[in-house]
Amino acid sequence: MKKTVLVVLAVVYFGGTQCIPAQSGKPATLFTQQINQAEYQRLNFADSADYKDAVRGFIAAPESDIILNAKGEPATDLRQYDFIKGKAPATVNPALWRHAEINTIRGLFKVTDDVYQVRGLDLTNITFIKTQSGYLVIDPLTNPNATKAAFDLVKKHVGNYPIIAIISTHSHTDHFGGISGLAKHEDILSGKIKYIAPKGFYEEAVSENVFLGNAMGRRGIYQFALGTPANVTGRVDNGLGKFYLGAYDPAVLWRPNIIIDHTGQKLNIDGVELVFQYTPETEAPAEMMFFYPAKKIFFVAELGNRTLHNVLPPRGVKVRDARSWAAYLDETVTLFGNETEFVVPAHTWPFFGKERSLNFLEKQRDLYKYIHDQTIHLANLGLNQEEIAATIRLPESLDKEWFNQDFYGTVRHNVKAVYQYYIGWFDGHPANYDRLTPKEEAVRYVEWFGGEKAALEKAAASYEKGDYRWVIQALKWVVFANGENKEARNLQADAFEQLGYQSRSSIWRNMYLTAAKELREGNVTKNLPRQNKSYIKDLTIDDLFTFLSISIDGTKAAGKEFQIRFDISDEKQSFYVFLKNGVLHHKPSSGKERVQFALTLPKSKLLEFISTPENVDTVVNSQSVKTTGDISKLKLLASLITVFDINWNIITD
Ligand SMILES: [Zn+2]
Repeated sequence: MKKTVLVVLAVVYFGGTQCIPAQSGKPATLFTQQINQAEYQRLNFADSADYKDAVRGFIAAPESDIILNAKGEPATDLRQYDFIKGKAPATVNPALWRHAEINTIRGLFKVTDDVYQVRGLDLTNITFIKTQSGYLVIDPLTNPNATKAAFDLVKKHVGNYPIIAIISTHSHTDHFGGISGLAKHEDILSGKIKYIAPKGFYEEAVSENVFLGNAMGRRGIYQFALGTPANVTGRVDNGLGKFYLGAYDPAVLWRPNIIIDHTGQKLNIDGVELVFQYTPETEAPAEMMFFYPAKKIFFVAELGNRTLHNVLPPRGVKVRDARSWAAYLDETVTLFGNETEFVVPAHTWPFFGKERSLNFLEKQRDLYKYIHDQTIHLANLGLNQEEIAATIRLPESLDKEWFNQDFYGTVRHNVKAVYQYYIGWFDGHPANYDRLTPKEEAVRYVEWFGGEKAALEKAAASYEKGDYRWVIQALKWVVFANGENKEARNLQADAFEQLGYQSRSSIWRNMYLTAAKELREGNVTKNLPRQNKSYIKDLTIDDLFTFLSISIDGTKAAGKEFQIRFDISDEKQSFYVFLKNGVLHHKPSSGKERVQFALTLPKSKLLEFISTPENVDTVVNSQSVKTTGDISKLKLLASLITVFDINWNIITD
């Protein structure tokens, strides 16, 4: 998730002192209460093993429930979810409530000798392995302030030793963004501190967070409910753990200095020998797991979780390969299953004991393989995505395990991802191949419904019957046809809200409740900065020009041409940049290309130019910038750059 977004939302929703969550939503209807009650029959709520595992090895609570930023100001309050205790309220699915309660447990825990975890300070766990002379740290959280707080806790209770090495298991922000809370960048650049990550880590992190940042960022606000308060009618969990919104210092993206690129690769880190399993194209495009033989611990990264994960999360990513995912977990069982006595996931709490560890690995493997195989099976029977989602049922042996519940990903949306992975978004029906835009369809549907008023009357009758899924579908057309129709917005919001209350998946709850909030109050992003600059400063010059190409408005650029050379003085790199056929190209400059304009500038000025193209004059007039040739070409480039705005509409046209 994007730091600027978190920071601004924190200002809106978090006062900096203790949060007293106010219930802002409507009560649960009888239909919702019945659906939620049925969860008690479906699952074994008397099983308390998860609670016991989650507190096992507890050493100490966080020094303070207020996490401070580098200026010493309160960045967040860890108590914001402490209302989640005891019996589920009517407005939360009871299985999700149970999971959400366990995810509020926080502090320092001993997994086994020399292996410690700090959990509950962030979405992710941070693990510290004591080496001969310091610590090896696994997954340095999302933000540096939580990471520093975790390290302080370890130093106080385990020992004040230096950081020897850091591992990021994969290319998602919550596994690398907080590294500056542990180390200085120069110590990573010099190799003094080892920074270990899988092959493709940096490239994939750039792709998600920068190239697609504005699209995924906005959708991520829905997935994680970042604009919705934490309370019994709002956000209660993020499936993998808790997001603590806050005014943190920015996350960073640093390049690793040791790359893992094959299974069986071994590293001896200050006396700690690890055996890696390289698992690309699974939960992340670049990911790895590893075994610590001396302690019999398998670190399963995010391929194994105490929830079903996403084959394709709603924030939108490259669709994941469920078959590889299951195959790698099977390889884990083959390679390390016999020796494993603990399984430590990157999120949620560990598995203790050989039998339970193996049961977990095998049943998560089979969860993904069942979803994979049966989706294709049903596709071969002619079912489309919605039909597969409505048909597929897990075997009871998989369905009843608490760690297989769809608290994050769901079977119903994962089958659509498997379908998409193999045969794409198209369901084969020619009417769906070249549809009108949603707005164009909306206007026609509403006309055929007999107008907005008639549509609303029908929708209200469906709402009274508890047919909420249909209400949100039907009213989508009314709201898209006329976003000003308050009555339609409010009724659709009510239906979304009830669906949110019913959802076992935190993601579904978060999306539905965010939709309800935006329908009632307008976009939660309306006051956010127009562009997220997170990580841009960490990009290579090559990546910066790739981002610049994406930022070009093709319609405006059509029919225009120029050739410009950029000499980046502090990086000692030159790029030849030219516009042709509405496309901006860049390549390393030989210095011999014919250009109309050339400029020498430091990377910081290139960043300024890309982020604020309207300030092109200020950039070229800076002392550190030298130019030759026809400056109108640079101004033309500046005029073609779109600075993306995160406040794009989802719930309305
Ligand atoms: Zn994660």
